[in-house]
Amino acid sequence: MKIVLLGPPGAGKGTQGVVLSKSYKVPHISTGDILRDAVKNGTPLGKKALVFMNKGELVPDEVVTGIVVERLNQKDAESGYILDGFPRTLRQAEDLDAALKKMSNGIDLVLSFEIPEAIAIERLTGRRVCKKCQANFHIKNIPPKKEGICDKCGAELFQRPDDSIETVKNRLKVYEGRTRPLIEYYTKKGILKKVSGVLEVNELFKELRQVFSDAKLI
Ligand code: AMP
Repeated sequence: MKIVLLGPPGAGKGTQGVVLSKSYKVPHISTGDILRDAVKNGTPLGKKALVFMNKGELVPDEVVTGIVVERLNQKDAESGYILDGFPRTLRQAEDLDAALKKMSNGIDLVLSFEIPEAIAIERLTGRRVCKKCQANFHIKNIPPKKEGICDKCGAELFQRPDDSIETVKNRLKVYEGRTRPLIEYYTKKGILKKVSGVLEVNELFKELRQVFSDAKLI
């Protein structure tokens, strides 16, 4: 199962990526998570990426594509993967195709998560993340039992710097300009399927199971 999750920030790709990864035992490869880890660890990659991430801009293609190709070459990705947040530009998509061709590999399906902008804004600006275990909460939709504290591990919750309203608006603008054209790119290849990012997590998972079954992926 080689799947790409496409869609604007706030469409639920990350949450569904975790569910799919657990259910189908394939790695969830999120470029956002990889970059945030690099930032946290203060690596050269992290230092370079932080400048772009804090403004809601994209990290340069050559930096991100290199990381992903290296990751896809690891053993655990041999039988499949869930790519979340990559590719995000036409250049990344073309370079990914070229790299996969060399590996005699290819994407089975691209799921495009569709969501009204107002809902994405509400989800992102209300999101709170655990500093320690990275669990996600939402001030209205998934409030922690105790304000500001993670239900799972008791550590402090924080707002991602790029979830501020100004940066969220820029991230959505960047999605429209640079990532949305990928819908056409993958539609032409006949591997794109639009799904509703508004659905509740388990509802969407049920729908995806049917999509995978129809595509003979499970
Ligand atoms: P995400 O968690 O997927 O919303 O990613 C957070 C941030 O990481 C984005 O706003 C970008 O700055 C950066 N990023 C993640 N994936 C990519 C990518 N494929 N290309 C460029 N930048 C990326």
